[in-house]
Amino acid sequence: MPDYDVIVVGAGNAALAAAMSARENGADKVLVLEAATKGMRGGNTHWSGGILRFAFDNPRDIEPLLPGVEDEYLNFYEGVSPYTEDDFMGDLLRVTAGRTDPELSKVLVSNSKETVFWAKERGNIPMEPARSIAGVEVNGVVIWPKGAIVRAEHEGVGLSASWFKAAEADGCEIRYEATGRNLIQDKAGRVVGITVQEKGELKEVTANAVVLACGGFEANAQWRAQYLARPWDHAKVRGTRHNQGDGLRMAMEIGGMPCGQWSGRHSTPIDADWPDFADRKLTDKSNRLSYLYGVMINRNGRRFVDEGEDTQFYTYAKFGAAILDEPGGMAYQIFDQKTVHLLEPRYEYAKKPLKADTLEELVEMMDIDDKPQAMKTLNEYNAAAADDDNFDPSQKDGVSTSGLNPEKTNWGIRLDSPPYEAYAATGGITFTFGGLKINEDAQVIGTDWRVIPGLYTCGEMVGNLFHYNYPAGTGLVSGQVFGRIAGRNAAAEKG
Ligand SMILES: Cc1cc2nc3c(=O)[nH]c(=O)nc-3n(C[C@H](O)[C@H](O)[C@H](O)COP(=O)(O)OP(=O)(O)OC[C@H]3O[C@@H](n4cnc5c(N)ncnc54)[C@H](O)[C@@H]3O)c2cc1C
Repeated sequence: MPDYDVIVVGAGNAALAAAMSARENGADKVLVLEAATKGMRGGNTHWSGGILRFAFDNPRDIEPLLPGVEDEYLNFYEGVSPYTEDDFMGDLLRVTAGRTDPELSKVLVSNSKETVFWAKERGNIPMEPARSIAGVEVNGVVIWPKGAIVRAEHEGVGLSASWFKAAEADGCEIRYEATGRNLIQDKAGRVVGITVQEKGELKEVTANAVVLACGGFEANAQWRAQYLARPWDHAKVRGTRHNQGDGLRMAMEIGGMPCGQWSGRHSTPIDADWPDFADRKLTDKSNRLSYLYGVMINRNGRRFVDEGEDTQFYTYAKFGAAILDEPGGMAYQIFDQKTVHLLEPRYEYAKKPLKADTLEELVEMMDIDDKPQAMKTLNEYNAAAADDDNFDPSQKDGVSTSGLNPEKTNWGIRLDSPPYEAYAATGGITFTFGGLKINEDAQVIGTDWRVIPGLYTCGEMVGNLFHYNYPAGTGLVSGQVFGRIAGRNAAAEKG
């Protein structure tokens, strides 16, 4: 008799969805292994914004997720557009340049709504509209972006806490400081357990099936250098320090097939003063995404992107990488009093910005190598910038500089209202895209193109869903969809 029916490795959103699904589908004994201490539990899920992207045909379809929302928002459903399965698939195809796995993306999209409803029920997860980062008010009605409206209440912190509470109440056994090290196979190649390093002891724990849900390799500097290449070994980690690629390594050691974009990752501009691994209490408050209203210069005193190319949600992922690629992996974001009030609230969590009454004084305070060049750049920028008559922060306003390389093609107004402020930014890594090949049942496929019996995976470890970029809010829903499937099928391996 094995020790457990199902062992789930990891304790984030995907893992706890898998564990709860296994219990629901008849697994009596479910063990969850969490490498972190109890105080650091929950993986990137805890750090996340908790946004859930899913498909629905009718705005009223989301009503059960948001009871009472009309009391809080005037004519709430008038501001919600349908987001059909075709819309969701279209977004996935567009941002991945058509490379998303056709079968897995179909499973994700077609199960997205039902699974979010399931997660709300099963995990007892309160939800709310994601107003602090989405939605524009027009004539008193908030117009929501398509697809990414709902988030877990209290964001990732609330999502993770709800999952743990529900999993414990449902009888899942959760062990902390218990790191999965190696998979155990029987003579037929079936996965029958795992070696676990647990509080000073190396143990073998057996089960009918193992679900790997222990994240990507974003926290591992050597793997980042190896797979993502320079400058990603210098990236600061936006989430947990525990996603070291252990699950990917364990699976590949027994012949699991790597697939998807192993050089791909999600990243954003973040505060340069942030530690190498993100502060757990401040979760995702490190983001510095208001560069579109200012000017960015590198340590050589030069601009390097069109800060106003588009609104932040279409440029932040690539600008995180662009900043990291500059000398010293950093840049300053400079604003004046015409725009500082537009900075998103997360800037309040920065170390105090540099502040000065003249651009010369500001540049003097900056930690950069070529200050004369910085002044030249800012003077040239101001000479090429436009008047602010047509400046419109709510949309791409076409107010462009003229004669620069690169131009600033929107919001390109002068820096001329002191005091000036400068925020130091760097590139932070969110998660990695490379993963394991799985089938529609979340079973891991080997390099011989056959299923590895007894082994499942879900969450960040699934390969081939995301390439280049991903539609915001898809990570958590992917974890729930494939976690639920993995748990259900792992439970069926019983006996
Ligand atoms: C700042 C930030 C904001 C984000 N915002 C959003 C958002 O709003 N919406 C969205 O959809 N996505 C968002 N994401 C992405 C999202 O957080 C991830 O896609 C998702 O949480 C991944 O879930 P997961 O369960 O696969 O991994 P995780 O939640 O990272 O969980 C992995 C678990 O495995 C454990 N572990 C690792 N190695 C081992 C081992 N060897 N043994 C045992 N346990 C191990 C970890 O400790 C952790 O518990 C955000 C991410 C970050 C960092």
